[in-house]
Amino acid sequence: MPTVYLNGTFLPLEEARVSVLDRGFLFGDGVYEVIPVYSRRPFRLHEHLKRLQHSLDGIRLANPHTEAQWVDLVQRIAAEAQWADQGIYLQVTRGPGPRDHAFPAEIEPTVFLMPMPLTPPAPALVASGVCAVTATDDRWLHCDIKAVSLLANVLLRQRSVDAGCAETLLLRDGWLTEGSSSNVFIVSGGVIATPPKSHLMLPGVTYDVVLELARQGGMPHAVREIGEAELRAADEIWLTSTPKEVLAVTTLDGRPVGDGRPGPVFRRMHAAYQDYKAAVMRAG
Ligand code: PMP
Repeated sequence: MPTVYLNGTFLPLEEARVSVLDRGFLFGDGVYEVIPVYSRRPFRLHEHLKRLQHSLDGIRLANPHTEAQWVDLVQRIAAEAQWADQGIYLQVTRGPGPRDHAFPAEIEPTVFLMPMPLTPPAPALVASGVCAVTATDDRWLHCDIKAVSLLANVLLRQRSVDAGCAETLLLRDGWLTEGSSSNVFIVSGGVIATPPKSHLMLPGVTYDVVLELARQGGMPHAVREIGEAELRAADEIWLTSTPKEVLAVTTLDGRPVGDGRPGPVFRRMHAAYQDYKAAVMRAG
């Protein structure tokens, strides 16, 4: 049973308890992060903590810790866990209070960190790619906030589960936003493209890494809106996220993407991502 952190205490997961009056439970009033740790070393921790601050600002909740305190908490959880590679789940809610939509007068945020095993996609999956379905993006208009109120994402993700697929790609007014729990890139005419960051999508840490690698590798790329027709006609479609890293979508709504196999630009980006990860971990 892993050691977790809850409101100032390190304790076994099965002993961690929060009040039923916690606003995270009653309203989904909180934000979270999932921070990858490889060989017990956090990856892009500063960027995750920056996004946490953005999410906290978005819900008007004061950050309960300094960056140095967060780093210490993440490192202590990472050091204790049984897995060398982990996704550290970190959640801050507006804490317990009387059940009233309005913020409580006295805020005592609930801070929770727990390690989870992190396994990159199996080589066979990287080689074959995955299938995805599309759905109308019916989430709220603050998708840049990594909120724990994930009901819309849960329902959207389940549509792909029901279809035996790995992800649901979301279209809002005919424009690609992201996946239910990943960002989306396409390759069209040799150019990598992905939608620009906005309130309609989560600013993925992996999204930033992939764009940086495209820049460094001199791979033609563009950050711009992608319409439904272009998505369906793309030569390649990729998902990016902390657990998926970069993963090719080879079937969309039952039809092959390109020739139905992960494309050459994907293979190059996937290799660049693995090299980058290894280099960061070597550097410590
Ligand atoms: N979009 C959504 C809706 C997500 O839940 C995630 C996963 N956190 C992502 C994109 C990808 O973000 P990251 O690369 O930081 O894991």
